[in-house]
Amino acid sequence: MKQNSNLCPCGNPKPYAACCARYVEGSEPAPTAEALMRSRYTAYTLQHEDYLLATWHSSTRPSALGLADDVQTKWLGLDVKRHEQQDADHAIVEFVARYKVNGRVHRLHEVSRFVREAGRWFYVDGEVE
Ligand SMILES: [Zn+2]
Repeated sequence: MKQNSNLCPCGNPKPYAACCARYVEGSEPAPTAEALMRSRYTAYTLQHEDYLLATWHSSTRPSALGLADDVQTKWLGLDVKRHEQQDADHAIVEFVARYKVNGRVHRLHEVSRFVREAGRWFYVDGEVE
């Protein structure tokens, strides 16, 4: 496996296997809200719906995402703008994700809220800027 041809989709300059794989496909919990955010972006690009649902807080989690049916969206990149730790168990991550649908590029600029319960970070919700 060549390292530089296999960079993690989340934007970190590391191969996927040394970055988000341990969270998305392993049992290791993401250590920070930002790491969780990045791994969730990666999960979207790889259509790992189970991981997205498992890291979604139970109070806001949808029953399904239907990623397997979405063949239109091509994720282009993630830019984390801000990671703000509010207290030990609450954090905010602001990001811009770029994606393409039917040849048109879109930007999703979101401020997401995360909460940590029993040592694991969860995505709660987000406000689109
Ligand atoms: Zn990654």
